Amino acid sequence: MTTIRAILGRRTRNYLLVAIVGWLVFIAAVLIPAIAPIIMIGAFVAVVGAMLGLILGIRCPRCGARLLQLGLAEVWAPLHAQRIAHCPRCQLDVNDESNRR
Ligand SMILES: [Zn+2]
Repeated sequence: MTTIRAILGRRTRNYLLVAIVGWLVFIAAVLIPAIAPIIMIGAFVAVVGAMLGLILGIRCPRCGARLLQLGLAEVWAPLHAQRIAHCPRCQLDVNDESNRR
């Protein structure tokens, strides 16, 4: 049983993990000269990619509306996220089962 809400929450969590780990690696590479510059560049690209993924990739599967607010609430405040029951644009029920993974 996988709901649209759960999928959006999982995607948001994955993007956040990449962004946070990438940021930590970037800071470490700035502070520790022994770390090769290519690692710093790679970490920066990972952070930017994850941020773009968060902004552009967390969308309603029916209408494409950006649902980052729901995704972030699902990660940081699941009880609050339960109050968001529908896509604000197309009214798709986010508690419905999704056939996408
Ligand atoms: Zn929608």
